[in-house]
Amino acid sequence: MNETDVIIIGAGVAGLAAAAALRRAGRRCVVLEASGRAGGRAWTVAVGGDAFDLGATWLHDADRNALRTLAEAAGDALLDADGPRRRIMMVEGHPATAAEEAGYWRAAEDFDRTCHARAAEAPDVALAEAIAGLRDDPWMATIETWEAAQISAADPRRFSVQDWSANDLTGRNLWVPGGIGALVQRRLAPLAGEISFGTPATRVDWGGAGVRVETPRGTLRAAACIVTVSVGVLAAGGIAFDPPLPASHQAAIAGLPMGLLTKVALHVPGGDMLGMEPGTVMRRRLGRSLEPVMSFHFWPHGARHIAGFVGGPTAWDLARAGEEATQAFARQQLEQAIGAEAVAKVGEIVVSPWADDPLYRGAYTYALPGQAGARAVLGTPLGGRLVFAGEAVCTDGLAGTVGGSFLAGERAAGLV
Ligand SMILES: Cc1cc2nc3c(=O)[nH]c(=O)nc-3n(C[C@H](O)[C@H](O)[C@H](O)COP(=O)(O)OP(=O)(O)OC[C@H]3O[C@@H](n4cnc5c(N)ncnc54)[C@H](O)[C@@H]3O)c2cc1C
Repeated sequence: MNETDVIIIGAGVAGLAAAAALRRAGRRCVVLEASGRAGGRAWTVAVGGDAFDLGATWLHDADRNALRTLAEAAGDALLDADGPRRRIMMVEGHPATAAEEAGYWRAAEDFDRTCHARAAEAPDVALAEAIAGLRDDPWMATIETWEAAQISAADPRRFSVQDWSANDLTGRNLWVPGGIGALVQRRLAPLAGEISFGTPATRVDWGGAGVRVETPRGTLRAAACIVTVSVGVLAAGGIAFDPPLPASHQAAIAGLPMGLLTKVALHVPGGDMLGMEPGTVMRRRLGRSLEPVMSFHFWPHGARHIAGFVGGPTAWDLARAGEEATQAFARQQLEQAIGAEAVAKVGEIVVSPWADDPLYRGAYTYALPGQAGARAVLGTPLGGRLVFAGEAVCTDGLAGTVGGSFLAGERAAGLV
């Protein structure tokens, strides 16, 4: 006999949104979560007493972001993130001149136009190939790094331009004072009903009329199952499927590698602002190639830390080198931006753990060239009783984001 109608694997944004939708529809469901907390890649910790999001940081495309609606309905104040994000631009160690800024934005428009146009043609190619004709522009390497590695956590040589184009984020970005992870725990998790923490799903048997999900705490039966774990977990065989997933779904998983974005919080005790206004330092360099680069965000929503971001192949290299190497890299990059004397005042440095954690194995997905359709394939229900959800299967232009995870979770709930 079924213990419940739907088993949901994973209490990240997708799993919680699916559970909330099912409960609204009067269905019974149970959420199985391997870790001891809800939120998944939305995770707020305290650094020097201030909130720091190890994962999701901004509510992108805020006007169609369900988490914004949820927060505002509950009376939470959200802050504009776009002004501060653009405030400071450093070029070769000095603040950008008006001419340099204009050159940068002209090149960024060329990049967007060229990539969207190339994405409309067949065959799909890598982002790096799509902009081959623009390489003479001295800003292009900087823009490529920003768009692929920093925003999409991807390697531009392996990143489908069609996937970039489909998920190019527009609209306003908002900050959540207190953190997105805390918001998810406060506002979304309570809508999800029963969450069984410390309960990893190890095997999903979907060969019969319903599904059986095995965990170290026993086996559950239901009419259907929604799987929201990261593609990194699926690719590593973190859950066994019986029967095995069809070739279509296995190919989709292979076509959607996990990118890596590593976040670092550098706490500055005593309220010293190091002479820096709140805002983001996007370090920009003229030239055809770039050395690895970290961008910094000073004093996000008034916190006494600097948030550093590094993505793509550099982030994977640093993850392999270890936490101390990442901390040293952050210090060295910050010294280049604001000088060694200021950096000497930095205290604790916290590094996000996404690469090594077996519950994630990366930050979020990007599609390989030719694989932009893999998100839709992975989201296709199997036998009406097994559905994958999560950021990877979002086809609404918000893949890789909490807004996309929410939509994918609600969609999966509708499908089962
Ligand atoms: C560094 C970083 C920065 C980001 N920045 C942003 C941003 O600014 N804005 C934005 O919108 N998005 C951002 N994202 C992306 C966003 O965090 C994710 O897209 C989203 O949180 C993914 O939610 P999900 O529910 O799809 O997956 P997850 O959050 O991964 O949820 C899956 C859950 O499954 C659990 N699990 C794993 N294996 C098992 C198992 N076998 N059994 C049971 N449970 C299991 C995990 O513990 C996890 O809780 C960022 C992500 C990272 C890592």
